[in-house]
Amino acid sequence: MKFDYVCIGAGIASLMFSYRIRQRYPDASVAILEKGKRLEERSCPLDNRTVSRCIHCKQCAIVSGVAGSGAKNDGKYIIPTVDSADYGGWLAEYIGAEPLIDLVKQLDGILTGFADKEYPFYSPSFEFKAECLKYDLHLKTAYIRHYGSDGNFRVMSKLVEYLEREGVNIFTEVGIKDIDLSKKEITSTAGSFEYNKLVIAVGRNGTPWFVDFCRLNRIELESNKVDIGVRVEIPSAICKQVSETMYEPKIYYRTKQYGDIVRSFCWNNNDAKVCIENNDKVLSVNGYSNSSSNELSGNSNFALLASINFSQPFKQPTEYARYIASLSNMISGNSVLVQRLGDLKLGRRTNEHRLSQSTTIPTLKTAVAGDISLAMPKRILDDIIETLDAMNNVMMGISNYDTLLYSPEIKTYSAKPKFISENFDISEDVYCCGDCSGTTRSLSQAGAQGLYIADRI
Ligand SMILES: Cc1cc2nc3c(=O)[nH]c(=O)nc-3n(C[C@H](O)[C@H](O)[C@H](O)COP(=O)(O)OP(=O)(O)OC[C@H]3O[C@@H](n4cnc5c(N)ncnc54)[C@H](O)[C@@H]3O)c2cc1C
Repeated sequence: MKFDYVCIGAGIASLMFSYRIRQRYPDASVAILEKGKRLEERSCPLDNRTVSRCIHCKQCAIVSGVAGSGAKNDGKYIIPTVDSADYGGWLAEYIGAEPLIDLVKQLDGILTGFADKEYPFYSPSFEFKAECLKYDLHLKTAYIRHYGSDGNFRVMSKLVEYLEREGVNIFTEVGIKDIDLSKKEITSTAGSFEYNKLVIAVGRNGTPWFVDFCRLNRIELESNKVDIGVRVEIPSAICKQVSETMYEPKIYYRTKQYGDIVRSFCWNNNDAKVCIENNDKVLSVNGYSNSSSNELSGNSNFALLASINFSQPFKQPTEYARYIASLSNMISGNSVLVQRLGDLKLGRRTNEHRLSQSTTIPTLKTAVAGDISLAMPKRILDDIIETLDAMNNVMMGISNYDTLLYSPEIKTYSAKPKFISENFDISEDVYCCGDCSGTTRSLSQAGAQGLYIADRI
């Protein structure tokens, strides 16, 4: 089979790339090759409660399949200001802040066109920013469109339906066997595909595959930073005032003890739940929420992570983060840990009995009550405790005894190809796009990059 454009991976980066190509070149042929399932077939056994522990499905339904990690996430799209153009990725470093903001606004316009109703749009609060500054907490100002997991799933379904109607060929459950760059040919379990231009957009989950591809083709990579920490779960009442105006307060804090940067992000409110994601057999936590308010969990959750930049000679930050995460998996018997902040501060384990006394009821029922300090470096835990205490000044109650900490939450970012051009090509007629390129880490920036590459290809 021969196509003008072939994308590997069917996340938002590829979908937006294909959308724009169809708009600009209606006669061009486009194929997307995805290793996971079709959108409507994606289902996590943990969601269905058919199992009580992650059973390591061959393809994790949370991060794999049509619409990528975007299908089952919180559907929060950050529309940055110049102040927050670095939120959700590093694209502004390559294309500039203003062009990035413009592309994200275009993305917002496209997606709202597929929405079944008007979804909430939140604006930054400058009063809250000023309040934060009193305590050396730095709030990034951004606008947010929030679809929720249910709403985003519907938007993605409509988008995919549209693309298929427009002739984009989406092949699922495809295993890539080989790519011959000189012949411009891909050999796969679904047959061979010839292309004129190839876009690789395999997301964070496809990073090991992408790294192998780069090594094989002598495309030099440089390592990225990693973020390590916990997911914090609190009663929604604590952050209600803030979440009602701006949905999520993206706060940076430089700890006094070590000078490390800790950030809060990926907030989930309303019917918010903590969930598990499986990245290549390492379990980590994440969060999502539904836009419908019929059934409220009563809790909010957010990631609180310390950024670690290793300098010479260490060059394996991702392996380091995965190793730390696997310790939590080991202690919890192949799951994740949950501990009350008060127990952590006292240096004692949260056991099942203590967790049952918690006034904050955990939403991730399969998390194992335990002691996260047995798996997490002291420095990171000190950073997290200090940051929560600082945040307590602006959101009273956030560092209560029964604040729940789930471990591990790690964000590893793909190694960046060292020599990326302004068009994001890494070899002749081969482009890297979205989270696997190491230049984005959010729906907004991955989608914007898809549009950008399609505009310039
Ligand atoms: C639970 C969760 C919640 C999140 N919430 C938010 C949020 O609210 N807002 C936000 O901005 N970001 C959020 N994120 C991050 C966001 O989902 C990603 O940044 C975004 O989806 C990246 O898009 P992408 O297209 O680059 O990659 P992905 O969405 O990861 O898509 C990549 C696709 O490539 C496929 N693939 C991988 N390897 C191969 C291969 N070898 N062959 C074929 N296909 C392959 C994968 O199966 C996947 O479907 C969340 C992530 C998770 C996991």
